[in-house]
Amino acid sequence: MNKIENYLEGVKTVGITGHRRPDGDCIGSCLGLYNYLTKNYPELSVSLYLESIADKFVFLKNSDKIIFNTEKDEEFDLFIVLDSSDLERIGETVKYFDKAKKTLCIDHHISNNNFAMENVVDAKLSSASELLYMMLDEDKVDKYVAEALYLGIVHDSGVFKYSNTSYNTMAIAGKLMEKGIDFTSIIDDTFYTKTYVQNQILGRALLESVVFYDGKCIFSVVKKDEFDFYNITSADLDGVVEQLRITKGVEVAIFMYETEPMEYKISLRSKSEVDVSKVAEYFGGGGHIRAAGVMMHGTVYDVINNLSEQISLQLG
Ligand code: AMP
Ligand code: MN
Ligand code: MN
Repeated sequence: MNKIENYLEGVKTVGITGHRRPDGDCIGSCLGLYNYLTKNYPELSVSLYLESIADKFVFLKNSDKIIFNTEKDEEFDLFIVLDSSDLERIGETVKYFDKAKKTLCIDHHISNNNFAMENVVDAKLSSASELLYMMLDEDKVDKYVAEALYLGIVHDSGVFKYSNTSYNTMAIAGKLMEKGIDFTSIIDDTFYTKTYVQNQILGRALLESVVFYDGKCIFSVVKKDEFDFYNITSADLDGVVEQLRITKGVEVAIFMYETEPMEYKISLRSKSEVDVSKVAEYFGGGGHIRAAGVMMHGTVYDVINNLSEQISLQLG
């Protein structure tokens, strides 16, 4: 097995990063690794770079150590990228990746293109957090590492219900629970709890959703002016696409929000038939069979037209 320890020989400085707009698995796996290395290898100098994280994740130990900018120039002995399928997804931290002596990618995306010098990729696993746990020494995992990894698994498995959830996922979750974490609060406070405006925007997205292909597809969109009106960020839209997906009869859910005029972040989810990672990859994105994402340009009409054409190829 590819233990993390095997990559640390001769290494004094480690840089860690995840993907842009970090989600629960990205933050959980990155902080899990950061906490594991700083606790068990105090002689290492470890730096963690991420874009801004939602307030609900701040309780994780050492979230205050995350560096949110890439102003400083650093040459790391080892640079580790988690939960990212390609180099474009890591954003500005690519400058550290390019200069590092050794690079390692730990990921679970089927679309991963093995961009690092060493790649530990397993697309069968629920999350980068699940994979990372398998690379750690169980005895060296403390409560704070466990909290971060449990959170990551919970988020990417939709609280242990998506098809990426396996016996292995549950067994690891069980071991993490044994470390004394508050597993109820992690799920309630970071996955289910919604602020008032998050509920408002969810309600609005559902109200304005449109079904097509005989109810097999559903889409909804949030435009830039609504971000301003409700004073929200993209992190407030977590969970909207999942609510669309569980609509009775729906196979594919599409949720899009405007990032720049005529530029949209697309989230795709499916139930059992359509491989949405293929659809996302066709337009330059990626992800997993049942959950994928991509950035697209044009009007809402263009985007939906292009996506639905690719989806229909798989709808049989
Ligand atoms: P999201 O809809 O953003 O929650 O993403 C669903 C899955 O697709 C996640 O595992 C993402 O890492 C992946 N994904 C989202 N956007 C992209 C993209 N532009 N390129 C590659 N993978 C993506
Ligand atoms: Mn992620
Ligand atoms: Mn993930």
